Amino acid sequence: MPEKALVCGAGGFIGSHLVKKLKKEGFWVRGADLKKPDFSETAADEFLILDLREHPNCEQAVSLTGGGTFDEVYQLAADMGGMGFIHSAECEIMRNSGLINIQMTHACAKKGVPRYFFSSSACVYRDMRPDEPELTEEEAYPALPDNEYGWEKLYAERLAMAYGRRFNMSVRLARFQNTYGPEGTWRGGREKAPAAMCRKIASIPDGGTIDVWGDGTAMRAYTYIDDLLQGIYLLMHSDLEDGVNIGRPEYVSVDELAQTIAGVAGKSIHIRHIEGPVGVSARNFRHDRISSIGWESRFSLRDGLALTYPWIRDQVEKAGHRE
Ligand code: NAD
Repeated sequence: MPEKALVCGAGGFIGSHLVKKLKKEGFWVRGADLKKPDFSETAADEFLILDLREHPNCEQAVSLTGGGTFDEVYQLAADMGGMGFIHSAECEIMRNSGLINIQMTHACAKKGVPRYFFSSSACVYRDMRPDEPELTEEEAYPALPDNEYGWEKLYAERLAMAYGRRFNMSVRLARFQNTYGPEGTWRGGREKAPAAMCRKIASIPDGGTIDVWGDGTAMRAYTYIDDLLQGIYLLMHSDLEDGVNIGRPEYVSVDELAQTIAGVAGKSIHIRHIEGPVGVSARNFRHDRISSIGWESRFSLRDGLALTYPWIRDQVEKAGHRE
């Protein structure tokens, strides 16, 4: 009998890719989400459309037809978006993601799920200066996340750990850094910086101008989806407890990100800096914990963008999208 996994948030960017990964690894997979994936058929064996803020729906998601328990649950459902969304939807994030995590963690623990994965974020860390030494996972405390999204993630991490202790459920907590790839949200206000910039660059002629929020100097690292999925899988099947950073340690400024995409697109671009929510000024993390279980990033920023940009360019062309 194949092992059984439940992926919550299986209609979203990372969740839909995670379903494919788990299928390749031989799992029987159920997906649960408010919606099916936007850009391709789900690879899940079964897909339930459920609002996971409601406890009965979480119980339904975690109950197998014919009894028994899931071997693994991956909790990726969240009210989620890029910096623009995070800064304008504080209450929705605190309420909706908070409720999903409270109800889902409780339902899994009560059902006796043996392994529970929670998708936390690098947003649990405080703001940093670009020249500061890398932060370890323990340095999330004393806590001072830059935004409410980060506070909710920290709360949900602690919630999962508390339930893990009480109900003898193995909990794995990954703190994802910015992740990008094909089939991620690319317009509409919830897209993240790499997708937004791919879209803007795909929409202009060679030599055109794109708008970039802030002064372009904020430092970031970006992780290609396949690297993240490998990290999730290794972490879930490891003995590593507490928060674990997953991300490629290749740091670039926001302007460098734009120029890398332009290089991939074969266009020269001008950047106009405009007012907008930028978030923290720098991110710089240690990755010893995830490396200790054999993870390493295989996709440079340029290589990952070379796989992502054509997909977004095709979406822009198909939709006749204009900025
Ligand atoms: P996403 O928005 O594409 O996926 C989230 C999914 O959750 C969506 O499909 C959405 O419909 C679903 N959802 C929202 N509310 C729901 C509800 N009430 N009931 C059921 N489903 C609901 O986001 P993503 O980029 O795939 O992120 C997945 C997880 O990883 C999230 O927890 C996110 O916070 C975390 N994360 C992502 C990144 C990143 O760079 N993408 C970075 C750090 C952390």
